[in-house]
Amino acid sequence: MKYISTRGRAEPVDFVQACMAGLAPDGGLYVPESWPQIEPAKPHESYVIVSTRILKAFAGDSLSEADVLGLCKRAYASFSHHSVAPLVQSGPNQFVMELHHGPTLAFKDVAMQFIAQLYDLVLTRRDARMSVVCATSGDTGGAAAAAFAGASNVDLFILHPHERVSPVQRLFMTTTGAVNVHNLALAGDFDDCQAIVKSMFADIEFSNAVSLSGVNSINWARIAAQCVYYATTQAAVGSDRPIRFVVPSGNMGDAFAGYVAARCGLLNGFEAVCAVNENKTLATLFESGRMARTPAVPTPSPAMDISVPSNFERLMFEVSGRDGATVERVYEQYKQAGTADLPETVHGPLKCAGFKADVVSNADTLAEMRTYYGETGQLICPHTAVATATARDLPPTEAVTVILSTAHAAKFPETVLEATGLDAPLPGRCEALLEKGELFDQLPADLQAVKAYIREQAAG
Ligand SMILES: *Cc1c(COP(=O)(O)O)cnc(C)c1O
Repeated sequence: MKYISTRGRAEPVDFVQACMAGLAPDGGLYVPESWPQIEPAKPHESYVIVSTRILKAFAGDSLSEADVLGLCKRAYASFSHHSVAPLVQSGPNQFVMELHHGPTLAFKDVAMQFIAQLYDLVLTRRDARMSVVCATSGDTGGAAAAAFAGASNVDLFILHPHERVSPVQRLFMTTTGAVNVHNLALAGDFDDCQAIVKSMFADIEFSNAVSLSGVNSINWARIAAQCVYYATTQAAVGSDRPIRFVVPSGNMGDAFAGYVAARCGLLNGFEAVCAVNENKTLATLFESGRMARTPAVPTPSPAMDISVPSNFERLMFEVSGRDGATVERVYEQYKQAGTADLPETVHGPLKCAGFKADVVSNADTLAEMRTYYGETGQLICPHTAVATATARDLPPTEAVTVILSTAHAAKFPETVLEATGLDAPLPGRCEALLEKGELFDQLPADLQAVKAYIREQAAG
């Protein structure tokens, strides 16, 4: 199984190379050269068994079956629920898929736990060491810290905007106590953090010197690992029942994984509604075919405060008939001008790909958290609320509606309190966070300062 770039000008690589590289050298994103057809999940199969079958299909010859089984066993042992992504009924013919049973209470754990195991295996065999960097507005950093803490071959550098992540999100990053986890609190915003990470990757000399690698949402391993819960959900509701997934969306890595699951024969049809907050570029893009850079506005669901979703590039590549030249042209124009219109050869088929996007306002998000609690007695996080609110307004369907719950309410206690007047206590297994000391270094939002810091720590 080889991986090719969405811009069509990079050498094909294998699964391990694609995952360790993150971005392809031509600036594109890696996708499999063809979609493997994978045997669907069966109701009696465990999450580890299903994930092993799916990830082995994506890994091809680059990993043995025993390797993949070991990775999945270790990755999913860290979840507090043995089903990993259990379904809970929320209404007639409607279920919530709970993706928040991992160590940092957010769905990013599902992929990050697998990635950390993969890096450990590959780097141990190569007797090599890498510096993994990620910029975070909250959840990615915590998931990466929990997954890589104590890894003997990786130095993890997490860049977060100082005093602009929620206190619980920060605790998940800063209290691991692990010497290989380095938290950089930058005097800037999330965009500054992301811009610094991008510049570091563009600096080939620096990136080679410290063996830089990235685990942000464009890493293929994240998409591959996220396919699995779509497959187990199809098995749980019955292989003969079509599903309408409602997915809280930012960079669209989660929703795109559902599309991939369908292409690989793991689902009965495909229908997904991307639920977005007031950062509504994705909705505009599906409707009018116009990609426009607009500054992200703050909302109660910060993990979805994204202007143009990075995984859209993979979808564009598919619906264009895998036309790398067109993808490159559209993204070049977008980079130069800040806007680009999809050609009809892309926008036409996009309308038939099974996606749509609906926008939920900030006020409606908070109201939904209240309503949902009234109906079910369950507190939900603001990201999940964007999806449950979206589901309310969808037309009736024969399909089963499955809403993805991407974080635990306790991760956003301030918003829960504002919306419902209630406390959202941390689950028992996370209470220790509150007692631990925090470790982070404050730095200016300056590329040179960050590079100097990483050079020093990566050497040590
Ligand atoms: C990252 C995140 C999302 C958005 O997922 P994408 O794959 O970027 O679309 C939604 N909810 C939560 C809680 C997240 O952490």
